Amino acid sequence: MNILFATAEVSPIAKTGGLGDVCGSLPKALAQLGHDVTIFMPYYRQAQEWFASNDIEPEEVLPATYVSWANWAVEARYLRTTLPGTEIPLILVGNDYYFHRPHIYSARFDGYDDGIERFTFFCRAVIRGCELLGIAPDVVHAHDWHTALLPVYLHSGLRGSDQFRNARSVYTIHNLNYQGIGGSNRFAGLGLHSRYWAPDAVEHYGDVNLMKGGIILADQVTTVSPTYAREIQSGEHGAGLDGILRSLSFKLHGILNGIDVDEWDPATDPHIRSNFDKGHLAGKRLCKRALLRELNLKHKARTPLVGFVSRLVDQKGIDLLIAALPHMLAAGAQAVILGSGEPRYENALQQIAARHPESCRVIIGFDSALAHSIYSSADMLLMPSIYEPCGLNQMYALRYGTVPVVRLTGGLADTVIPFDGTNLDAANGFGFFSANAADFYTATWLAMLNYRESKSWRRLQANGMAADFSWERSARQYEAVYDRARYS
Ligand code: ADP
Repeated sequence: MNILFATAEVSPIAKTGGLGDVCGSLPKALAQLGHDVTIFMPYYRQAQEWFASNDIEPEEVLPATYVSWANWAVEARYLRTTLPGTEIPLILVGNDYYFHRPHIYSARFDGYDDGIERFTFFCRAVIRGCELLGIAPDVVHAHDWHTALLPVYLHSGLRGSDQFRNARSVYTIHNLNYQGIGGSNRFAGLGLHSRYWAPDAVEHYGDVNLMKGGIILADQVTTVSPTYAREIQSGEHGAGLDGILRSLSFKLHGILNGIDVDEWDPATDPHIRSNFDKGHLAGKRLCKRALLRELNLKHKARTPLVGFVSRLVDQKGIDLLIAALPHMLAAGAQAVILGSGEPRYENALQQIAARHPESCRVIIGFDSALAHSIYSSADMLLMPSIYEPCGLNQMYALRYGTVPVVRLTGGLADTVIPFDGTNLDAANGFGFFSANAADFYTATWLAMLNYRESKSWRRLQANGMAADFSWERSARQYEAVYDRARYS
């Protein structure tokens, strides 16, 4: 099958979260199943820097081309390379006005948020690129709000063109809470027939809502875990689209993300101080010592190191973390926190670190090497998420023998089996249900108690390290969804 991936992020080239990880690893698993995948992503400044620092020069494959829509035309450059470490074609869509910015998702230099315009351009450029490069996909796989317009464009007449005659669309929701919403005045800029300004297309209570259009008009819709697929059909987690998702549940599938088991392998990971595996955890202890030394924290026997790596936004339960962390430190834990995001959270966490210089470090920033080092060194990884479509951190942690303490929501409920005192044969972490700091603290306290029982702790670690989070099973489920899109 010819599969076209259109995405705002691809790891390791440009990523802010799980979307990048998935779009950097699922194509590999699909290629291994024998499919031809081509990926399109924006040629951000961050991508240019990544290629330059890796001595890769993407090749310009077309003369600069005008992409036109809605009485507007914008120049696009097309560069070709491959997904790093593979033969999978990766097409970079360049336009410096839209994509040469300090951050992947930053607003225009004057502060005006032109996100919808940037990604409308990207979607139109993907279509034009396919036409010019002779790419005729059987399946167009769009991801999150940024590329939600592709299923809409396919529906709105694109199938009349040679390149897209046989194309069907699959739309994946990685996070329902970012929908690509703008005022009604943005509709004209999408280049759609007025029929699409309707509640069964991109109009939602008087606003433009790109994700809604993608969900309604894609042939099949997926999201990134079975539990999240159920949760988003409820008022609590549906972010205003639960009614639509309920009515379209016949084409909604929850497929758990996998992880790139080559990149995330404690036995070979080049970012960590000492490699280790399930049978030999001595290396993990060396990693912990090395990280503590780097952070200028004392190594103390029987003292758990808790880790946290995340975007600092309310979704991730930072309010719970801020309330519970001082209690964990008072109970004897050490902590290392890596993240960036909302300044109020950055400040509050830094204040906790300043008050506990002997036991807590907070590093503000995005640092992939340090993230690997934390997964390998920490004893526990905290994820008190308010909602979590899938969550990859807990899977990385499990693979590195780091016991996750999580709120049992979304993909966390599908991957973490909480220890209840009796299920050592299966348990791999600790969990709690209600989003309150006291319950979170209780779960970490239980984890800390069990940490001192080295035999059962090793069992929890071993159960986690034995879990199979490779992409193969999920890739087969995607294959089945692609088939449904094509033949139903
Ligand atoms: P989300 O997509 O909601 O951010 P996920 O758990 O699905 O959450 O994916 C997060 C990914 O981003 C993981 O690969 C994690 O290691 C990475 N990540 C998040 N914050 C940071 C950071 N500050 N530095 C390095 N990596 C980070």
